[in-house]
Amino acid sequence: MEEPVTEEYTYIVVGGGIAGVTCAEHLYILHPEAQTLVLTATPLIKAVTNVLPLTKTLDTFEVEEHDPNTLQSKCPSVSVIQDCMARLDVEKQLVHTSAGRCFSYQKLCVCTGATPKVLAERGPHVVWLRDTESAQQFQTRIKDARRIMIVGNGGIATEMVYEVTGVEIIWAMKDKHMTAHFIDPGAAEFMQPELIREKDEGPTISKRRKYTVEHSSQISRTSLIGGSLGPDWHSGLKLKGKTERKIIMEKEVEVKRIFEPMEVMQLEEAITRLNSEEGEWPVYVELTNGKIYGCDFIVSAIGVTPNVSAVTTGNNFALGEDGGLLIDEKMRTTEKNIFAAGDVCSPGWQVAPHWFQMRLWTQARQMGSYASKCMWSSLAGEEIYMDFCFELFSHATKFFGHKVILLGLFNGQGLDGKYEILLRYTRGMEYIKCVMVEGRMQGAVLIGETDMEETFENLILNQMDLSEYGEDLLNPDIDIEDYFD
Ligand code: FAD
Repeated sequence: MEEPVTEEYTYIVVGGGIAGVTCAEHLYILHPEAQTLVLTATPLIKAVTNVLPLTKTLDTFEVEEHDPNTLQSKCPSVSVIQDCMARLDVEKQLVHTSAGRCFSYQKLCVCTGATPKVLAERGPHVVWLRDTESAQQFQTRIKDARRIMIVGNGGIATEMVYEVTGVEIIWAMKDKHMTAHFIDPGAAEFMQPELIREKDEGPTISKRRKYTVEHSSQISRTSLIGGSLGPDWHSGLKLKGKTERKIIMEKEVEVKRIFEPMEVMQLEEAITRLNSEEGEWPVYVELTNGKIYGCDFIVSAIGVTPNVSAVTTGNNFALGEDGGLLIDEKMRTTEKNIFAAGDVCSPGWQVAPHWFQMRLWTQARQMGSYASKCMWSSLAGEEIYMDFCFELFSHATKFFGHKVILLGLFNGQGLDGKYEILLRYTRGMEYIKCVMVEGRMQGAVLIGETDMEETFENLILNQMDLSEYGEDLLNPDIDIEDYFD
């Protein structure tokens, strides 16, 4: 077979998600005369807009989906090609695509994201959320649903339980309390009233372009590797079932088996019925606590697996424990001239005491930006230093309608339970938790409009001894910003 003509680029970025697009934009700033290629499986790419700095390490921003031309006209030496990387030849520094094209690179950045883990028995009754198309499928299915089961306890499951109305939700989680990856039992209790409340039906107008019909039909051809959605995945969608909202939490459980109605006939006695007129359900789920619930469908929200197969096939990349491409402090994988950023990678460097990886928008953007500097510096022979954002974990989000800011070891991560907690709690208003070790702040959870993020960020970063303030640190009558800013 005839070899395809090799098209030459200085930089190639694989993936049009936040990590990939940020990396390409910053490569253009650093090295505008170099030819950069963004190779992406989907027709639309992500763009970060409305960036507002909150603290030194934390910005809030919105993410939109754009036509690739937007990036190409902003960064003229960046080309975007919609095609899929099928094979990577690390020796010859070549990327082969599904459409049969071949591109050479001097530096390559892999930003192929992650794919949702799906319950072992996936079948037609199991859905998951990842991209625009899966969100639309969810919308279509929910409108005829009376009851769904949501399995998982992370950000996506939490958002979904909050956003979906007019349906009974069985929320099955492995942990002892809801949203355990992000908040402790106290904060979970703070959020509880919002969990039960039926939401007002607000307007469902989306300012993004991602939910239009023509885009979704384009996307369906490549649905397996669409870019991940973010915090506003539900905006523009009507997520209403056809009954009354009710939440039943099943804690410390996993899914044991999924049954078709026929299979469950002999188990009639064992089925947990929430009312006497339930009738038959399209699917039944047995949990490890022995309960069997019927429902219309099951949502699998049990985490993600890094998308590495396109690069690992035939190559020897080292992987992290969670299956991501292992990278060093210069974002380099173990293969020459190949970098990685975003959900696909696993940091293998000695991370700062108050930072850790979580596969989130914020980190995809930070890593994409830093990876561009690393790629450019390795070509230009310039020395660079690790970006300051890797000094402190910080994340801003919304849970159950409340503003949530997480800083440092906010859940006592890695502290082996050897920490104290300072708490300030005003029902319905604010929840402030500080994780303290020997009088020094290690992390914080700020829920509500607390305005403390900057002060607490400083206190975690500078590790000031706060023992003398004791509980007064959170005394509402003392303006601690005056002391520490
Ligand atoms: P992605 O955005 O997944 O982009 C990967 C890109 O690679 C895509 O463009 C894909 O088409 C492309 N690609 C993959 N394979 C190939 C290939 N072989 N060839 C060419 N291109 C390829 N994070 C938050 O911070 N807050 C939230 O509230 C939040 N909510 C979320 C809700 C949902 C429903 C989901 C799914 C995720 C959510 N996340 C949230 C996580 C966040 O979306 C991700 O961490 C982030 O988008 C990762 O960005 P990325 O660029 O690494 O990967």
